[in-house]
This record gives sequence, structure tokens and C-alpha cells, in this order.
Amino acid sequence: MSDRREGVSPATDPGAGNPPVRRLAAWDADALSGLAATYDTPLYVLDLDRVHENYRRLEAAFPDAEIYYAAKANALGDVLETLLDAGAGIECASAGELERALAAGAAGSEVHYTAVNPPATDLEYAVEAADEHPGLTIVAGARDTVDRLAERGYDGRLGLRVNPGIGAGHHEKVRTGSDAKFGVPADRAVDVLADAADRGFDVVGIHAHVGSGVSGDALESHREFVARVGDLARDAAATVGELEFVDVGGGFGVPYREDEQPLDLEAVAEATRDALGEVDATLTIEPGRYVVADAGVLLTRVNTVKEAPETTVVGVDAGMTTLLRPAMYDAYHQIRNLTADADERETVPQTVTGPICESSDVFCEDRDLPASERGDVLAIGNAGAYGYEMATQYNSRPRPASVVLEGDDVWLSRRRETVADVTHPERAARETVEDKSERGEGETTDESRRIR
Ligand SMILES: *Cc1c(COP(=O)(O)O)cnc(C)c1O
Repeated sequence: MSDRREGVSPATDPGAGNPPVRRLAAWDADALSGLAATYDTPLYVLDLDRVHENYRRLEAAFPDAEIYYAAKANALGDVLETLLDAGAGIECASAGELERALAAGAAGSEVHYTAVNPPATDLEYAVEAADEHPGLTIVAGARDTVDRLAERGYDGRLGLRVNPGIGAGHHEKVRTGSDAKFGVPADRAVDVLADAADRGFDVVGIHAHVGSGVSGDALESHREFVARVGDLARDAAATVGELEFVDVGGGFGVPYREDEQPLDLEAVAEATRDALGEVDATLTIEPGRYVVADAGVLLTRVNTVKEAPETTVVGVDAGMTTLLRPAMYDAYHQIRNLTADADERETVPQTVTGPICESSDVFCEDRDLPASERGDVLAIGNAGAYGYEMATQYNSRPRPASVVLEGDDVWLSRRRETVADVTHPERAARETVEDKSERGEGETTDESRRIR
């Protein structure tokens, strides 16, 4: 299933070490164009070697921490397997992610399930998974969730997510720390923990996640956040006894813009250790974006070039359904024309848009890029995190394919969806109703159609 790769990602120069950022310019344009030709577009490309490098860099900066990769950034089985092999655990936010982590071979002790307002089916799945995979930890974010776990007969390993009352992040939609939705308010956390311990739960840790996009500028608020978590951990330990872990979440930022500097991971690690203070528990971190963002690009083909009075509109075959971040967060993603002569073309301001009937379906506005031509393949950078995971079927658009690279190998890790995949649930429901009516079990009256 795998064919030879001809240097799609930058050649590994042993002397070059492990650079803190891989820019879009460093990817091999010809090789990416080859992938677009072979697998068609839109296409997600993910380099597992780079995933591995990013993980190693985190591990080096946080040598005494446990690292649980936040699967929601990119839950592809190949990513989870690569990280488990490298020694990471997996942080899961849903039953689906739990299923994927376990399918990738995670042991119970390598899985944290963070239950944010969990639907009953998720809790039931998690309780069962914990039963079959001893060592699995469930992290509750509300007293209610602890009650619901107890109702289901669970009194196993429990972490408590606390809300430190401090938010940081690149956009208000990812600042979760001060958002009341997430975690037990800090002043009630010790009570909830003590109560859970009384009810027989194995209280193993406390957890907080302040939001995505911790950058160098936000180091002070990171420090303040970690200090609060450290205080809480000491209060908790004084009440319920020794904790196994203090989890300060993820949110390690990556540079999306060409001129943005990479995060000084050493500085973040030092600030974290410093601010946490003495705690008799293992520091745990949950990076998502940092591990996968620059390991992935999205390839898309130009299908329309339209001169408008205000700008040149370049229509591509990927849209907000493929990569939602620009529409949802006003996120900046680098764009590079992979055509061989692109550098020699005139640079003109272009608005790159997708095929979705929404005005927010725009990747960039008036950005200076080499003049695009129909058929050109564009690469969109930093698409490895929250790319495919946020893809939808809006406009009845099938989701794209994904290929992964590792060493000299390339393989299709997720096939392109077809329109039949999009319409399947509806067809299946109709067939069920028709089957029943053929067997005389249900009536296809207006009434039964309404309640089915
Ligand atoms: C999303 C999330 C993370 C990872 O965030 P990144 O910004 O991708 O590092 C970690 N922990 C929890 C609980 C999360 O919800």
C-alpha cells in the first residue's frame, strides 16, 4: 500500500537537529505536487517523522513530566500509534476518541478521559473501558459528573478538572480557563475531591487546561495559572492525601505566521516548574496542537480565478468544510503556490475562497501571492492540528482524504469520502422504515414517519 516517497518533507540533515518550527517553505514543492496528482485534492498530508520530532522536543523540555497527547487535535490512528510508540499517553475528550486510543493500542494507564459535560453514552463507554483497561483515568469537570459516575457503579481512578479562573489563548473561543463551562470552580474543588474520596473514588489527580495558544507573550498569565493549580494541588493533597498527578493541560502555541517566532519551550517549562512549586505529584501536560500542527499541510487546487474590482478572487477546492479555522477563529494560515514557476510570477493581492455558499468561506483576504492560475496546487500550512478533525459535510460535501509520510513511505491513511458516504445515514434510515413496512411491523403513516 505504500510507495516510495521522494523527499516530500525536508531532507533530514542529522546536523540540523530538531528545529522548533517547520515552515511551509521547507516542504518539497515537487513532491507535494506529486501527492496532489496521485491522491487528488483537497488532500491532508501529515508527516509522522515531524510528529515524532515535536514530541521529542516536548519530552526534552519537560523531562520529568508525563505527556498525554490531546487526541482532538488530530485523532488519526497513525498519529496515535506513533505517539504511543514514542512513549506518550493519550488524552481523550469523547467516547469516540477513547475508542480510537484503545484501538491504537493504548493501555488503560496511557489514557485520560476528560469528561466535559459528557453525554450518558460517553460516560457508559468510559466506565466500561475503565473496567476492561485498568489504569484508565476519568477526569470529571463537575460534581454532577462525579455523581453520574457513581450512579454507574464507577469508583475507580478519578481526576478533577478545576477552573482556575484565568484564561489565555489566541482567540476568545479557545479561552476555556475562565469559562464557567469547564471545570469545578477553584474554591469548591477541594470539597468535591474530599467528597469523592469519601465515596470511595480513587482520587489521583487534579487537572486544569487554560486554553489553546500559550505564546511567549502569555508567559506571565501561564505562570499565574500554574501557580494557582499548584496551590490547589497542595490544598487537595492536604485533604485527600497524596495525588499522582497535577495536570496543567495543553495550549502550547505554534507560529502560524511566517514572521512569528516559535515558542521558547525551555522558558515555558522553566516557568511551569517554577510556578508549580513543590508538589508531591507528577507534572502532566496535554499538548495537542504543538505536536501535530506543523507536521501537516492541506493541498488544494485552484479552480476559478476571477478579477473583481476590489481584489482577485481565487476559488479553490478546499473550503471551510475542509479547514474550518480561518472561518471560525479568523485564523491565519500560510499559503504557498507549489507550481514550479510560481516564484517568477507577478505578486498580486488575492482572496482565496472555497466552494461553500458562505461569506466566511475564505482562507485569506487580499494576501500578496504569486498570481494564481487555474490548475495550480496551493499548500496551506500548519494544517496538522484541528484540520481534518473539524471538517464537516456541510453543503453535502464529502470530507477529504489523508495521506501520511514516514521515512521513505507514503500511504493513504483515510480515503476520500464520497457523496454516498454523506447520504448513507439517510438512506439507511429509509431502508429500515421500508423493511419494517414490508414485514408489516410499522406503518408508514404520517404519524409513524414523524415519530420514528
Ligand atoms: C484541547 C485540549 C488540550 C490540547 O490543547 P492544545 O491547544 O491543542 O495543546 C489539552 N487538554 C484539554 C483538556 C483540551 O481540551
